[in-house]
Amino acid sequence: AIPLVVAINTSLAARNGMLIRDRIAMERARNLDTIVFDKTGTLTKGEQGVVGIETVGTVSENDALALAAAVESDSEHMIAQAIREVADERDVSVDAATDFEALKGRGVRATVDSDAISVGGPNLLSALDVEAPSELTAFAERAGDNAQTVVYLVREDIPGRSEEEPNATQRATNEEERSEPASRTSGAAAGTEATVIAAFALADVIREESYQVVDALHELGIEVAMLTGDSEDVATAVADDLGIDTVFAEVLPEDKDGNITALQEQGRSVAMVGDGVNDAPALTRADIGIAIGSGTDVAVQSADIILVQNNPMDVVRLVKLSKASYRKMQ
Ligand code: ADP
Ligand code: MG
Repeated sequence: AIPLVVAINTSLAARNGMLIRDRIAMERARNLDTIVFDKTGTLTKGEQGVVGIETVGTVSENDALALAAAVESDSEHMIAQAIREVADERDVSVDAATDFEALKGRGVRATVDSDAISVGGPNLLSALDVEAPSELTAFAERAGDNAQTVVYLVREDIPGRSEEEPNATQRATNEEERSEPASRTSGAAAGTEATVIAAFALADVIREESYQVVDALHELGIEVAMLTGDSEDVATAVADDLGIDTVFAEVLPEDKDGNITALQEQGRSVAMVGDGVNDAPALTRADIGIAIGSGTDVAVQSADIILVQNNPMDVVRLVKLSKASYRKMQ
């Protein structure tokens, strides 16, 4: 039988837009000492807009958009939507792309005009073992200082796709010796010449409720952490603004749950709040997984509690409700 107090509080929770998939999790919430939030779409609105474009050489902004929008045409990511939107606003005729490939936590890649074109963040560049030219680096630094997310457009000229290995002369056209091609990760197509040809800066907005959430959790004696695939610059800027205690940035989707484990190994009782497919393993790993708002099906299925109203303040209400119920049970 379901204890009466629990039954009452489950329905009370439901009335507050909290769907409890695991009743024990609701009870455990009173003991939380650390809450980890996903950044994009949870603490921020997740509605990114392109606010700057920088290109190299003879590449025009619209050339860059034509390629980037083509590669992003198959992606649901907020960054993809933002790039398609600006291409559309500028009436850019988007190139045709094939062979779409999602590079988890890094970006996307597709074939355009027999070149492999990819769009993605700093993680993508390291995976492709390529560096941005100085004009793009300067642009990225300015954007980072303003808490803007930067993604790069990379062209990989594939010298005869049938060849097993690039020959020495093709490699020599690279100004610098590539270090350890063997260390390239799965995102890279070995044996290609990759060039970064443009960068896009995107701005997201912190949700107003997020400021209150961090303050209220601090008042409850709970530490607040942020976990994101976005760059260190952006993550730090957002965390400083919100007063967040701990930041995990540039975390690949497959590593998100590892950060939760590390906190648990410090003896902490940890909740994870997220909305994305990428957050699912961390939601599962946490002592309490909380899916928020328009969370993807995968996030919802991995969570113990679902906050239907997409309001991060409900995380605070949840902890308070759990503490109040526990007092009643004494
Ligand atoms: P978050 O953890 O903030 O939800 P993701 O794991 O979805 O972020 O993505 C992490 C990073 O990977 C992004 O900040 C971006 O640099 C890159 N990325 C992912 N998907 C795309 C895409 N479709 N286009 C460009 N960049 C992408
Ligand atoms: Mg997210």
